[in-house]
Amino acid sequence: MSKKLVLTVIDGMKPAMLERAIESGTAPTLKAIRDRGAYVDDCVAAFPSVTPVCAASIATGTGPDRHRIPSMNWFSRAEGRYVEYGSSFSASRKFGVLRSLTDTVYNMNAVHLAAETPTCFELLDDAGIRTAGTTYLMYRGRHEHHVTTDSTLARIANATVFRDAVKGPRELFYADLFASRRSGCRGQFAMPGQRDVHTGCVGAYMEEHDLYDFMLFSLPDNDTFSHRNGPAAQVTSIAAADRQLERLVHAGGGLERFLDEHAMIVMADHSHTLVEERIRLDVAFADWQVARPNGGRATDGEIAICPAQRSAMVYVLRDEDRAAVAARAAKVALAAPGVDLAMRLSSPRVGVIASARGELHFSPGGDLVDLRGRRWSIDGELAAIGGRVEDGRLLSPEYPDALGRVWSALTCPTAGDVLLSAGPAYEFVDWGGAWHPSGGSHGSLHRSDSEGALLWCGTEGGRGWDTRDALDQWTLRDVLPMVTDHFGLPSPAGA
Ligand SMILES: [Zn+2]
Repeated sequence: MSKKLVLTVIDGMKPAMLERAIESGTAPTLKAIRDRGAYVDDCVAAFPSVTPVCAASIATGTGPDRHRIPSMNWFSRAEGRYVEYGSSFSASRKFGVLRSLTDTVYNMNAVHLAAETPTCFELLDDAGIRTAGTTYLMYRGRHEHHVTTDSTLARIANATVFRDAVKGPRELFYADLFASRRSGCRGQFAMPGQRDVHTGCVGAYMEEHDLYDFMLFSLPDNDTFSHRNGPAAQVTSIAAADRQLERLVHAGGGLERFLDEHAMIVMADHSHTLVEERIRLDVAFADWQVARPNGGRATDGEIAICPAQRSAMVYVLRDEDRAAVAARAAKVALAAPGVDLAMRLSSPRVGVIASARGELHFSPGGDLVDLRGRRWSIDGELAAIGGRVEDGRLLSPEYPDALGRVWSALTCPTAGDVLLSAGPAYEFVDWGGAWHPSGGSHGSLHRSDSEGALLWCGTEGGRGWDTRDALDQWTLRDVLPMVTDHFGLPSPAGA
């Protein structure tokens, strides 16, 4: 019988800030996990390094090419409309708050997330392992849950907006919407700053009542706090996250006993970097016909523009000359101050990464090997990704796992034709006009927002993943195989 495993995701946790919180003594639980086990300070996010894409990578162990969540804001060619997962409240309003909530709560799991790519919950449910989840973007599992009607407020909101049942883990506590038990914990309608407390409350409840073998324990408030106050302020929000972990640990008999009896994985989905300047794609593409958000369907346009924090996408909406229009759009975008990289496919097997430092063409397969062991052939300027070749190995420390991540993003069937990554201190203004001046943000290919914290202890399994040296480069995709390995299950194909 395997130990119980808790996978904790602290949204946006920056390694340097975790270390500072541990040193200052305000994160005793995280310190104990790190001291007992292993710590990676450069676990590579997915690209774009925004939460929906990264959450899908954590849950499925795959990149966007396989899980098909392309970004925070994207254009559905199938439905001829924008999809907005809540970049900001003003962005959601632009597309309709109800529509945005429905896309985020229901469609992301039921429609957008690739049906053939199983989640951690589905894999473990199929093996009869007792799964549990707190409020997390990705919850798809095998157990049906109906909307709760426990409080008056929930009854009103849920009766008017949310009616449909969902498939989730065996135990699911999702804001005020789904609760598989009467825990007495209040979801507070998933208000930022209140969400960690709800996770701590339901987590402790499930621990006390022995309801899980695997639990996804989601602590999203650090991300909100860092967006508002800047990455340096994370010491405060990481300490707050640690207090919710303490609550869970307390319910399980205290720190020593809990860590003896449980395996723990704690990770960030991405990091955060300080923002000082904004990029306005509406200005850069002022001469183009851009599809406007217009209730449901987008009105006609030659392109759709999808800003998502420090990343963005451009979709070419007309079939004729699609590749040529994409090349022209990439050039226009790259000329906008603050745009660092413009990426596209020049043919189905060739990716292009363009920057002011030059242009790099690349294809899967070839003589060069990256830190992940993937092979590539390249042509052009490696300076585009700050890269170099040493002993046949491709290194790009400024843009970790650059080719693998860009290739996965470009070949995601729902992604735009041109992908953009912002330079240091820049952020794309979203559809609602919002950005985070003097705050933190993320989304780019650069290491500053791509390298998050990963720490674990007590995991079991045959792969011997108990030190950071087990891999040359850790990515979000490595966590699902660590989970399945712990429970003695084979790694899912492709993960
Ligand atoms: Zn964020």
